[in-house]
Amino acid sequence: MFLSKRMLGYGQESSVIREIFEYGLKRKQQIGDENVFDFSIGNPNIPTHKQVTEKIKELVNTIPPEKLHGYTSGPGAPTTKKAIANYLNKTFSCDAKSDLIYITSGAAAALAITFKAFLNEDDEVITFAPFFPDYKVFVESTNAKLIALKTQPENFLPDFDLLEKAINPKTKIVLINSPNNPTGVIYSEKTIQKLAELLKKKENEYGHPIFLVSDEPYREISYGKDVPFVTHYYKNSIVIYSFSKSLSLAGERIGYILVSTKAKNADMVYKTICGAGRALGYVCASSMFQRVIEDCIGLTSDFSIYEKNRNLLYEHLIKIGFNCVYPDGAFYLFMESPIADAEEFCEKARDFELYFVPSNSFGHPGFVRIGYCVSTDQIEKSLDSFTKLANYYQLSEIT
Ligand code: PLP
Repeated sequence: MFLSKRMLGYGQESSVIREIFEYGLKRKQQIGDENVFDFSIGNPNIPTHKQVTEKIKELVNTIPPEKLHGYTSGPGAPTTKKAIANYLNKTFSCDAKSDLIYITSGAAAALAITFKAFLNEDDEVITFAPFFPDYKVFVESTNAKLIALKTQPENFLPDFDLLEKAINPKTKIVLINSPNNPTGVIYSEKTIQKLAELLKKKENEYGHPIFLVSDEPYREISYGKDVPFVTHYYKNSIVIYSFSKSLSLAGERIGYILVSTKAKNADMVYKTICGAGRALGYVCASSMFQRVIEDCIGLTSDFSIYEKNRNLLYEHLIKIGFNCVYPDGAFYLFMESPIADAEEFCEKARDFELYFVPSNSFGHPGFVRIGYCVSTDQIEKSLDSFTKLANYYQLSEIT
């Protein structure tokens, strides 16, 4: 084989979601956009904050292009890192240091860099299913293993007995994602405290650090619920953040890694992260968007639209007999498939012009992920199709 078998595998796998999305696009051309209900991807469909657009215009009009579009230093422009640290310290009363912030091309790059920095062959990363499918790609690319543990079926929260048994001397990282893609679950302070206690116990038992990596691209999409800031609870922690969802900037690729000031050998961890970013070819994150973030940090898009979508869709799906856990955050509904084979269910849904993703690649078969980051109009128009789908499977309506 003249190519990497593993990379070929990843390339072929990702085409399942793309195929659903592209089929939806084809149907839009055939029968009109308004008749196709595409819930397959997590691309925010609400505008970014006004100030972001204003800032982009101002930058283009006032900064000479050779300056605006040039490289910044690899870990990010010092002024942007400072703005992020100040914001975090003010908002979460933490002790973030700009020297421990590394600006990235979104959370995906932040995760890939972090895993590259920490993992050697045969090391293990533990996460909880269902999980964002690219975790597996990023971890396995370092020749380490991703161990995905089953969660409690009624709420998708970690099963601490399973976790305790799974942690072993090879465990380098425990990876969490709250608010969660695809379930919408938010980990409470109690859950984070319990996790921190267990990790501390295991660190003492094995005599080496186990890092808690918290992937938080949906931090602000929590509809009023509190999302605990992990550095308060556990020293060896790393926060992965992105502006893709909070400011609807997914295509602009901007986010960061925060190494906790209290982490063991924090400066060395940070330098290793810088090395990993270099090794992966992330020269620097978008220089223009670093400037945008410097000015707009703390602002968000208007999530009231997502909240309205969530309530409309959730209430309707439950009423017509589908089963799903109420999502506290993010912008996905994780709905149980009425038949064991979720892929077959997704195929059938296409007959009603409904497009969503089977949960197999999230490591938790038998469900589908419905992304409600679309217009409220699309949600309203799709409800009738969901009813027809429920009728096809003879689900009983709750009256
Ligand atoms: N982590 C999770 C849980 C996600 O859902 C996503 C994107 O959907 C990412 C990371 C990657 O986000 P970004 O666009 O910031 O790379």
